[in-house]
Amino acid sequence: MVGGTADTAPAALISGGEAPAGRARASVRGGDGSVGSMTGSPLRIVIVGGGYVGMYTALGLQKKLSRGAAQITVVEPQANMTYQPFLPEAAAGSVEPRHVVVPLRRVLRRCQVITGAVSAITHARKCVTVQPSSGEEYELGYDLLVVCPGSVSRLLPVPGLAECGIGFKTIGEAIYLRNHVLSCLDLAASTDDPQLRRRALTFVFVGGGYAGVEAMAELEDMARYATRYIDAIAPGDMRWVLVEAAGRIMPEVSVRLSAYTADRLTERGIDVRLDTRLESATGGTIVLSDGTTMEAGTLVWTAGVKANPILAQTDLPRDDKGRLPCNANLTVKGVNGVFAAGDCAAVPDLTKDDPAATCSPSAQHAVRQARTLAANVLATVRGGTLHDYRHAYAGSVASLGLYRGVAEVYGVRLRGFPAWWMHRTYHVSRMPTFNRKVRIVADWTGALLFSREVVSLGQVQAPRAEFEEAAGLRRLPDLG
Ligand SMILES: Cc1cc2nc3c(=O)[nH]c(=O)nc-3n(C[C@H](O)[C@H](O)[C@H](O)COP(=O)(O)OP(=O)(O)OC[C@H]3O[C@@H](n4cnc5c(N)ncnc54)[C@H](O)[C@@H]3O)c2cc1C
Repeated sequence: MVGGTADTAPAALISGGEAPAGRARASVRGGDGSVGSMTGSPLRIVIVGGGYVGMYTALGLQKKLSRGAAQITVVEPQANMTYQPFLPEAAAGSVEPRHVVVPLRRVLRRCQVITGAVSAITHARKCVTVQPSSGEEYELGYDLLVVCPGSVSRLLPVPGLAECGIGFKTIGEAIYLRNHVLSCLDLAASTDDPQLRRRALTFVFVGGGYAGVEAMAELEDMARYATRYIDAIAPGDMRWVLVEAAGRIMPEVSVRLSAYTADRLTERGIDVRLDTRLESATGGTIVLSDGTTMEAGTLVWTAGVKANPILAQTDLPRDDKGRLPCNANLTVKGVNGVFAAGDCAAVPDLTKDDPAATCSPSAQHAVRQARTLAANVLATVRGGTLHDYRHAYAGSVASLGLYRGVAEVYGVRLRGFPAWWMHRTYHVSRMPTFNRKVRIVADWTGALLFSREVVSLGQVQAPRAEFEEAAGLRRLPDLG
């Protein structure tokens, strides 16, 4: 709870969907344009999503708004903010997964953090519906709303994909994939069934944007390293396939650098299939549009993102891609008191000649938009001027495994070790909180001194299995 007395905080909670008469409050716009609450109690600012935009906006607001002036509430299903650019390194074991997430309650000391998902927004009544992880939904009133629930994997109706595939957007998926890939190596080394072995050693990634390329390159690098300790598997026994529907990978970088990246991956034995689509994955049998069929124990879907579908459960406007159409000052078009930014928002890109251009979904934009957004919320509260968001995309850096990377920043291209170094220094500098920065550098130093950790914690995938087996409830599952 922020700056709140025990009496003011629950005032924002309207249980059972009804606003008790004495509790509901209306916001008013002062003659100077400022927004305030009619009762004089703290202004209620609700932030939907505690990712990049949500956490940075809340940090900016809690720094500038006095305790009694506003109650800032962040609603987020996870207790942490995830620094997604480090997910590939977390999956590869170069950094400890816990170090790439930031505990929200620890950093947002003057905000109320609610661990739950927003299931609806009714702007007509100025309230959001919160679904906690367990228990009944309730409504939360607001005077100003910041909507930033990010994006979700953009799935296509490919048979078997939903059953056999996994995305690569969350820390849970990164941890799962690390354990799964290492468990597949263990299985392949322990079976005498050649078909099962082949299947366990086949890893298919669909989608060649930087997230997919980084995830695959880091995991392949880790698996290759792990085979040093497994006599029964040579690196060449593994089959890593990157499937991309377009004619090139990493559209974020120049054609030259994209071709360079594809060449480096191919040199490592990764099968890069361009102009190819996944047709089917039923039962783990992968069928590609070029006619290839293979059995795979791992299918990772990294073919892009779309705005969080929760936006469909609101009375806010949406564009043809399901995003919130925003003005350049990050207010949502056509509604009062609602701001949005990040992957869920269509924010005009003022650096482009095309007036219809919008900012790409990236951390680079999200973190900067959060800064502008916090300043504009403050300006709204205080009756100041709202500023437009403007940032020219600086470029991309990507890690392709230990000591290997590609980067294109402000037109300067880097490859190999310098690019990898730039990737690490850039991202550690961007990692929120000093505490996390130090822990990540310590992880890297530990890996440098004692070599990489390739322990498979396959049991984490089914933690109750042994207990249930002891109780006679079921047999231990096959980890493959
Ligand atoms: C593997 C990977 C690597 C990446 N690498 C880079 C990179 O190198 N450079 C770069 O610029 N960008 C990178 N990105 C993209 C970048 O991370 C995103 O663009 C950025 O996180 C978007 O910020 P956001 O605040 O809009 O969304 P997010 O940071 O995703 O935050 C959204 C938050 O909303 C929460 N939420 C979801 N549903 C609800 C709900 N119903 N109610 C409440 N909260 C909800 C989510 O749990 C999440 O915490 C990468 C992304 C991935 C997946």
